[in-house]
Amino acid sequence: MSTADIGLIGLAVMGSNLALNIAEKGYTVAVHNRSAGRIDEFVAMAKEQGLDGKVIPKADLAEFVAAVKRPRSIIIMVKAGAPVDEMIEHLLPHLEQGDAIIECGNSLFTDTQRRFDYLKPKGIGYLGVGVSGGEEGARHGPSIMVGGSKEQWHNAEPVLTAIAAQFNGESCCAYLGEGGAGHFVKTIHNGIEYGDMQMIAEVYGVMRDGLGMSPKQASDVFKEWNKGPLNSYLIEITGHVLAAVDSESGKPLVELILDKAGQKGTGVWSAIAAQQMGVPATAIEGAVAARSISSRKDERVAAEAIYGKRNATKANITLADLEKALLAGKIVSYAQGFAVIAKASDENGWNLPLSTIAKIWRAGCIIRSRFLDQMAAAYSKGGNTNLLVVPDFVTLMKDSHPSLRKVVAAAAVGEFPMICLSAALSYFDSFRQAQGTANLIQGQRDFFGAHGFEIVGRGGDLHGTWPSTLGK
Ligand code: NDP
Repeated sequence: MSTADIGLIGLAVMGSNLALNIAEKGYTVAVHNRSAGRIDEFVAMAKEQGLDGKVIPKADLAEFVAAVKRPRSIIIMVKAGAPVDEMIEHLLPHLEQGDAIIECGNSLFTDTQRRFDYLKPKGIGYLGVGVSGGEEGARHGPSIMVGGSKEQWHNAEPVLTAIAAQFNGESCCAYLGEGGAGHFVKTIHNGIEYGDMQMIAEVYGVMRDGLGMSPKQASDVFKEWNKGPLNSYLIEITGHVLAAVDSESGKPLVELILDKAGQKGTGVWSAIAAQQMGVPATAIEGAVAARSISSRKDERVAAEAIYGKRNATKANITLADLEKALLAGKIVSYAQGFAVIAKASDENGWNLPLSTIAKIWRAGCIIRSRFLDQMAAAYSKGGNTNLLVVPDFVTLMKDSHPSLRKVVAAAAVGEFPMICLSAALSYFDSFRQAQGTANLIQGQRDFFGAHGFEIVGRGGDLHGTWPSTLGK
């Protein structure tokens, strides 16, 4: 008998926590996993939490599908990439018209679009859903960014909105647009996350090397900042990470962790998407590059031997400047991220609601912050104006960009790398500069390639008279 409200395949960290979350909200969930051993482990876990009554375990795929009420909503939470395509092929013979596959992994949005287009003529709905919040979020309420088949979304909507995080009584789950829209927004969410994390790390670098602060002292500052305008999950956990002590050595844990950051692809995808659409997203690009530099430890060690240790002078900046610099950098980074989303929305006809996106990021996800409430308000009247010209953010930027300037200048003199914050500052200065320097670039392009230029008041496609014998 078909009794499950929803099905879920893939019982690793994310899938098992999502399934427990679904069961806890009172829905019956049929579960399946390629290796049956994981199903038994999951059932034991559900039992421990008193939720086994809401779980229907099925090791056989056909029996699993049959256990789900029609029209079926089946979540796939398997490893991103080829396993998703394989899983779709395994499922297809068992599905019927009107059923939907809901893929909740970190998929590349173009893959999601391809799968959506592939299944549509077969009458099978496809929802590409971004889920943010890690293991904890999956279990107790993630932020859920839905894209794909709108009709089938309505079938799954009660379950997905119930398991999502709540902010002031509103669910942090929303349908955003067709095809790959949900996974695109999740990708940019992750790009913004990269920027936030890198900017925090750069400020920590100044605290450590420029101000001579211990991890405990830095932790106290982040904990204090978390009470102010920077209040966010990432600032909060930074306070905890810096305070942690290694039980074996008694030393601050952060000082023992190797300074090589990993990445799984969403930051790179964000940067590529931004570049492909011609939208400047320098903070995200800087953050991705910083992770790549971090991973080249051997090269860095060798280069330090050549150039000598940094001249770690006492930085002539205050903690108040650092706090405001972080705020200014963050505003620029989010302005860039939302600009990328707005452009993708236009290009793909997604009609992405920027205010809703800011709203569903207010809780559950890794970039959740107080600040997103202000962004949701900024976009609530529609439109996709760059945040940097929205009045509330203009006020914040006017107040904070002088500190960003001071911090970046001190970093340059003190030899502290600041790839992300300096990129944010340069973007801001370029963005607000009415007269730029691309007139010279156009002159150069015309010199070597006859690309033409425009002269204000005289029209375009004009050429200069350049010396023809130069360099010959
Ligand atoms: P993993 O990405 O580690 O994937 C493991 C799961 O995929 C297992 O259930 C495994 O089954 C299944 N699997 C792998 N290959 C196949 C295949 N060819 N056919 C069928 N099943 C297969 O699991 P996570 O829970 O970490 O992540 C799931 C998804 O969620 C990923 O896309 C990930 O990027 C995304 N995500 C993860 C987050 C996290 O914090 N971990 C946060 C947000 C999103 P088996 O047990 O048989 O090997």
